[in-house]
Amino acid sequence: MYRSHNCGELNASHINTEVTLAGWVQKSRDKGFIVWVDLRDRYGITQLVFDEERTSKELIERAQNLGREFVIQVKGKVIERASKNPNMPTGDIEILVSELNILNEAKLPPFTIEDKTDGGEDIRMKYRYLDIRRNPVKNSLIFRAKVTQEVRNYLSNEGFIEVETPYLIKSTPEGARDFVVPSRMNEGQFYALPQSPQTFKQLLMVGGMDKYFQIVKCFRDEDLRADRQPEFTQIDCEMAFIEQEDILNAFEGLTRHLLKEVNGVEVDKFPRLLYDDAMRLYGNDKPDIRFGMQFGELNAVTQHKDFGVFNNAELVVGIAVPGGNSYTRKEIDKLIDWVKRPQVGALGMIYSRCNDDGTYKSSVDKFYNQDDLAKWAEITGAKTGDLVCVLSGETNKVRAQLSALRMELAERLGLRNPKIFAPLWVIDFPLLELDEETGHYHAMHHPFTSPKPGQIELLDSKPSEVKANAYDLVLNGNEIGGGSIRIHDKTTQAIMLKHLGFTEEEAKAQFGFLMDAFEYGAPPHGGLAFGLDRLVAILGGQETIRDFIAFPKNNSGRDVMIDAPAPIDDEQLNELSLKLNLKS
Ligand code: ASP
Repeated sequence: MYRSHNCGELNASHINTEVTLAGWVQKSRDKGFIVWVDLRDRYGITQLVFDEERTSKELIERAQNLGREFVIQVKGKVIERASKNPNMPTGDIEILVSELNILNEAKLPPFTIEDKTDGGEDIRMKYRYLDIRRNPVKNSLIFRAKVTQEVRNYLSNEGFIEVETPYLIKSTPEGARDFVVPSRMNEGQFYALPQSPQTFKQLLMVGGMDKYFQIVKCFRDEDLRADRQPEFTQIDCEMAFIEQEDILNAFEGLTRHLLKEVNGVEVDKFPRLLYDDAMRLYGNDKPDIRFGMQFGELNAVTQHKDFGVFNNAELVVGIAVPGGNSYTRKEIDKLIDWVKRPQVGALGMIYSRCNDDGTYKSSVDKFYNQDDLAKWAEITGAKTGDLVCVLSGETNKVRAQLSALRMELAERLGLRNPKIFAPLWVIDFPLLELDEETGHYHAMHHPFTSPKPGQIELLDSKPSEVKANAYDLVLNGNEIGGGSIRIHDKTTQAIMLKHLGFTEEEAKAQFGFLMDAFEYGAPPHGGLAFGLDRLVAILGGQETIRDFIAFPKNNSGRDVMIDAPAPIDDEQLNELSLKLNLKS
């Protein structure tokens, strides 16, 4: 028996018990005749004491030679501590050691295994197994396990069946590039790793499974924008014989359950916002509604004066910054520089101060009088003491810019409190999205999403106006889930694929299996998928997903610990009938 107890459970009730513990040496304090060692395992830290008078000289010498992270086993008696530590669960006791076994020595770790470590990101990733010994990472992984456990509990109780789907498949378009795997047995042919199990879960509905879920890895070969991973985990779900309303209720239920069980937070019914309204009011399809600062469109009250910048703009839009009138001229100039940074891309910013005496002072007083500025304040909801910030330009761009400013200001004002949870549904997304570069439309969600009833006729005449039965679940400014009601008949699916630019042959080659299935009695169905990594991070009150993933990849998609990806040797290439044609 390696241990009778773990390092987190002994307390005053165990005094005088003989125990055996095993773990890692966190640190030691050597007073010559007495040595204290902190012994650590997953459960906590227990103080060991080696005392010349009460044990032996030989033992204390061995204790003096213990290095950090040595793996040891000790036997001894639980005794009361002279100076107690009320901040730790084991703080009332220590172990008077009578036997010490070194199970394994350890090299000096390349960074300190403490909550606040001296190790940078790269070194921590290279030695991730050491990083995992640190509380912040360990606790994040335990937290993740709790969330997934609750997901399984809830969905299983609701009658969902967990079904695994294959990883070696054929492309499922979710808008990214596929990772491909060469097939040795089928020369010159490749599998694609799933961007999601989308088509399989639809086929499970055709197969009559009725309610499916899976906690599943998905793979997308994208340029890694901040805090994305090439492989990530979804809670993937699908239901048959449902309408959009059923899906929203089912997964609102799951989210509510998680918030309650994991965070102890009860939330009201989730608000629902039309996609068009989300864009109009927040310039963003994943609005953070923990705070107000809604957009106010100002075209009507700005555009028939002599101010050319506004007159020529497709959209003039502003937000009220609470208490912003206290900003100095210099601070406002800095804000203007901030919106002009290439990452935001605004050409400038106009502002109007809402003075304490009820007057206004704007940067365009030449063109706008007090009545005009009063309207700006009214429309943006600005009160005395606030600052109205106004951007103008092409609608989509200016919305994105003002949305970035809104989030930045909220951050600075401390309005993005990670302890507050504000979920909402964004519904009625457009079916198609115009790719500005190619001039082609592609599916905003994916090609299996159904248009709103009666709108399919619009596909030819006004494609960008067609709305989809598609919805996103948004939490604190992050999209944590998204899905749709699916097309479940071959004709509509064929029309959709045609509009996405597939020839009939291409459609058949890529999605023939799905369209065939639709001819054998496909029930109406729909579903959604949550991004588990992000969901866990937000519930855990963190912005970044990395510490909630045991072995994440870096920004270049590398695992620096195992050093992957890596070249393969000629023999392996040969076996796969592959020849390299490297560009560099
Ligand atoms: N497969 C979709 C995705 O990965 C989710 C869904 O439509 O259910 O975003």
